[in-house]
Amino acid sequence: MTLLSIEQCSKRYPQAGTLAVNRVSFRVKQGESAVLVGESGSGKTTLLRMIAGFEVPTEGSIQMRERILVNDQTFVTPEKRNMGMLFQDYALFPHLSVLDNVMFGLHALPAKERVEVATATLEQVQLADYSDRHPHQLSGGQQQRVALARALAPQPDLLLLDEPFSNLDNLVKAEVRDAIFDVIREMGISTVSVMHDMDDAMLVGDRLLLLQEGRLLQAGTPRDLYELPTNPYVARFMGATNLLEGRTVEGGFDTPFGFIRHLHGSRGEEEFVLSVRPEHWELLSEGKKAVSGVVHHVGFVGRYCEVSLLPEGTKGANGMEPLRLALEAESEIKPGDRLFLRPKAGCIRVFDTDA
Ligand code: ADP
Ligand code: MG
Repeated sequence: MTLLSIEQCSKRYPQAGTLAVNRVSFRVKQGESAVLVGESGSGKTTLLRMIAGFEVPTEGSIQMRERILVNDQTFVTPEKRNMGMLFQDYALFPHLSVLDNVMFGLHALPAKERVEVATATLEQVQLADYSDRHPHQLSGGQQQRVALARALAPQPDLLLLDEPFSNLDNLVKAEVRDAIFDVIREMGISTVSVMHDMDDAMLVGDRLLLLQEGRLLQAGTPRDLYELPTNPYVARFMGATNLLEGRTVEGGFDTPFGFIRHLHGSRGEEEFVLSVRPEHWELLSEGKKAVSGVVHHVGFVGRYCEVSLLPEGTKGANGMEPLRLALEAESEIKPGDRLFLRPKAGCIRVFDTDA
């Protein structure tokens, strides 16, 4: 069931030349976790703020279930939208106890009920024992869980999260992220989040919405965007990839690194851009009709070795984009080695050159 509908939403800030958000449409289903991703300045926060009601769209409409929140005639104020918010800076009141912080959003309830609801919500984020503490007595992760409890206590229809993990150290971030999204999933809360870390976005997002310069470029599951990007920008944004110029030849493509077999329906000689991710190559013992190159550099990343390859006969990198491979960390490949390889089956994306 659709919970939230964004239809053709645009935002132009006063005095700004370009649109911060440009005709974006998408839907969020009940219980779904939607994550907005994109470069800094692509319009993620603006879109989230329009959903919250802190910004008014220049054009378009936003609807929650049957209720129009904003269009060219209607505007529902933020406090009447029944949405919770979570930001990177926790935004807790420093002079209030944890319990009072969580009770803050419950002013509509009688005093006794406020305490009950706040305590129950603190139990859900496993912080009931910390009710009497003040925010400065808690770690960043605990503070963010208090902020979550405060956002969830009024039982919002939708929770909006803007870079909620950005202030956390890498060592605790995964733990806090999982704790927060476990609670969110258990309660069946629908969310729209902004995340700049791709791992975070892919791990918590049922659906990703990739923005570029205010436009929604592609929406889909993390796997869709990673494996089936619709253009080279999406391919690269979702993770390291090799973009190769490919000219159609009998049975496949000719690239700067040699031949790649492919069943691409070709109408004569045409140029395409091929995307093959570093982990999607297999080594061959020798190759007449294969990709080949000479190892330029081997880097150890722990989980894998990053091997960069240059076409044979090239002296130094010379501004040439090397082919990057992610190979098993225990491989004994060294600079100067000659490698033959091919993309794994089904792991090539073919784009028009103007995509
Ligand atoms: P993101 O969250 O993806 O980094 P933002 O939504 O913050 O992107 O910004 C989108 C664009 O709108 C940027 O070009 C930014 O400079 C501009 N922008 C954001 N907020 C304002 C504002 N209050 N006034 C004018 N321009 C703004
Ligand atoms: Mg932002």
